[in-house]
Amino acid sequence: MAWDVVVVGGGPAGLFAAVAAAERGARALVLEHMSNPGRKLLASGGGQCNLTHGGEIMDFLPHYGGGTRPGEAGRFLRPALYAFSNSDLVTWCTRRGVSLTEDPDGRVFPISRRAQDVLDLLLAEARQRRVELRTGVRVRSLRVERSRFVVLTAAEQKSVVEGLTLVLATGGRSYPSLGATGDGYRLAASLGHAVVSPRPALAPVVVKRNAFSPFVPCAGVSLPGAAVAVVRAGRPIAEESGDVLFTHRGLSGPAILNLSRHVFPGDVVLASLLPGSGDIRSTEGRLAAEVAAHGKRTVANLLQGLGLAACLSRALLAAVGLGPGTKAAELPREARHALAVSLASGANGGHPFPVGSLGGWNEAMVTAGGVPLGEVDPKTMASRILPGLFFAGEVLDVDGDTGGYNLQAAFSTGRLAGTSAAEKARSEARRRVTR
Ligand SMILES: Cc1cc2nc3c(=O)[nH]c(=O)nc-3n(C[C@H](O)[C@H](O)[C@H](O)COP(=O)(O)OP(=O)(O)OC[C@H]3O[C@@H](n4cnc5c(N)ncnc54)[C@H](O)[C@@H]3O)c2cc1C
Repeated sequence: MAWDVVVVGGGPAGLFAAVAAAERGARALVLEHMSNPGRKLLASGGGQCNLTHGGEIMDFLPHYGGGTRPGEAGRFLRPALYAFSNSDLVTWCTRRGVSLTEDPDGRVFPISRRAQDVLDLLLAEARQRRVELRTGVRVRSLRVERSRFVVLTAAEQKSVVEGLTLVLATGGRSYPSLGATGDGYRLAASLGHAVVSPRPALAPVVVKRNAFSPFVPCAGVSLPGAAVAVVRAGRPIAEESGDVLFTHRGLSGPAILNLSRHVFPGDVVLASLLPGSGDIRSTEGRLAAEVAAHGKRTVANLLQGLGLAACLSRALLAAVGLGPGTKAAELPREARHALAVSLASGANGGHPFPVGSLGGWNEAMVTAGGVPLGEVDPKTMASRILPGLFFAGEVLDVDGDTGGYNLQAAFSTGRLAGTSAAEKARSEARRRVTR
């Protein structure tokens, strides 16, 4: 007996796809290789589950990377996000007893702040819709025989399930401890799809050791509302603003995580050390006025007077080659300019942090790259290569900003894929009967 819809992967995208398919009367099966489904969902938002963002759904579109052209990922996701928006997700959860709350920065969480409540809701809905969930089952290979998907779940050819349609919702490669296998890329390729090389996204930046050594004691210091930018071969590539956190090896925090999809080793990240300080010219003017007025004070003291944390003042002085006791009156003009550049925000402002590497698969929260968007119909999530095959969630070449954009994309694409697969299965079954 063939299932109407076989879903590979029991994360939010896969579970929601199965629920949506079952709502349309399809017999849906979910295959999940971990012993429990939704492990990444449970870890999301530090266990609190930041499942979406507030505001208008059209404002979500610029928050996604992926595709070959700027803005392509947002355009690709548009039909899925509009068909099942952030407010639809809020209503869906609230009607079923999980109330949500929006933080002042727009992030939306369950009021209980328990990711488990969101997972329990998905699983209860799946049970009620008679979705069959098989855990501890890793899909090894896929093939198509007589217009059916033959799913091999063990090395030996015996463990086989068949589906009229198949939804690939295996997620990406980040956080293997939470179930990520990267299998989806191999499985998609085996069915004829290309794969955009997966790379870590929403990852911390590791700064070259020599350049970062003065800042190592600042681990844990944060810069709220800082301007950051990435520069390659002297040209600005992308910019962001938001909180920046110093770590033992470099930079993290929402602004850096969001910027990371554009960052490669060899680039330079500029981070304004004095958020809100204005451009280089005005910052240097302010510094010059302070120096003129307080020549006997130390530069470190002046910088702290401007609002720089003590630890960052010491680090910045060392980074520009000044001793900690340097008096303001002794400050060379070039050093004053270098300090102003590091403090400033805006064009070319910000302290230069040369990038050594990006945090790897155990640190990146999502995966950039995946199944190319041009090979998937955004109105249905159907493969343009193989009829009956659908994609949902992070396996696609889409990566969202922090703030709930990734889970919203998983829910929206999951729902669209599940609905479309159910319809396809119904027409396929009808075609077989009338043949
Ligand atoms: C620590 C952390 C915190 C995060 N916090 C947030 C947050 O607060 N808000 C937000 O929006 N996003 C967050 N994310 C990102 C978000 O969790 C993911 O983007 C989302 O879970 C993707 O959903 P998915 O269903 O596509 O993939 P996944 O959740 O990865 O689910 C895929 C499933 O497929 C299974 N699988 C893989 N290969 C196979 C196979 N061969 N056979 C069978 N099963 C297989 C996996 O075990 C997994 O259960 C966070 C990520 C991490 C790592």
